[in-house]
Amino acid sequence: MTYSELCRRLFAAGIENAQGEAAILLEHFCGIDAMARLSDPEADLTSPELEGALQKREARYPLQYILGEWDFYRQTYEVCPDCLIPRSDTEILVEEAIRLLPFDARFADLCTGSGCIAISVLAERPDTSAVALEKFPATLALACRNAERNGVANRFSPLREDLLAPTRPLSDEPLDAILSNPPYIPTSVLPSLAPELSAEPRAALDGGEDGLLFYRAILRDYARYLKPSGFLLLEIGYDQAEALCSLAPQYGFSCVRVLRDYGGQDRVLHLKRLDA
Ligand code: GLN
Repeated sequence: MTYSELCRRLFAAGIENAQGEAAILLEHFCGIDAMARLSDPEADLTSPELEGALQKREARYPLQYILGEWDFYRQTYEVCPDCLIPRSDTEILVEEAIRLLPFDARFADLCTGSGCIAISVLAERPDTSAVALEKFPATLALACRNAERNGVANRFSPLREDLLAPTRPLSDEPLDAILSNPPYIPTSVLPSLAPELSAEPRAALDGGEDGLLFYRAILRDYARYLKPSGFLLLEIGYDQAEALCSLAPQYGFSCVRVLRDYGGQDRVLHLKRLDA
């Protein structure tokens, strides 16, 4: 198989960025970088590993799970079907947290998944520490490996809890911030999403009937752990800002800002206490 055959097969499977993905697969499975590819475009690249990976990708299994790792912010994360694949849109939340957290801050990351939010913030802000809540033991173990891999394990406290049914307090000391990218897709919308999404954990996507189930629980049961000056940064669906901004005051919070993602869509909500 040549590079152009690889591109063609990916394209035929309906993959938009076929050339980009072909390049990534080649580098990962055959050690062929851009230079080597361009200097010999007709080289025969046949290998069982590449063929296996290609077949999975043709079946629209996510590229990130095939590779087993993915870059997010300035770090690389181990990923597997136990976690949601880190999205570049979530980097907006990470950037804002890095900017806003006071010196020496302690924060929580709810529904930590791969751990990407907490870990990227911790890596950029060595003065901070975090508690990372996650429902599924295998997912939390993955987050811990990612904390280790990125050198922040000593400031990363894992907490295995179901956000919707907590059994222990989130923290003994008041927190400076709560960060979260909770599941937020309305249950009825799930079946119409891209085929790759069906390989991701449904529990990481399903936000209940109106998609707002987790936000209500966060405001109701977790916002109380914040210092009076504390804030929330929540990733949201593109059409959820208005509903959440009108929901927040019922829980004593107000919306400071809605941040947009690289595609110009509403993506992150910054909330603070009404009386702060
Ligand atoms: N916090 C993780 C992320 O942003 C997982 C989010 C989730 O599972 N909903 O990728």
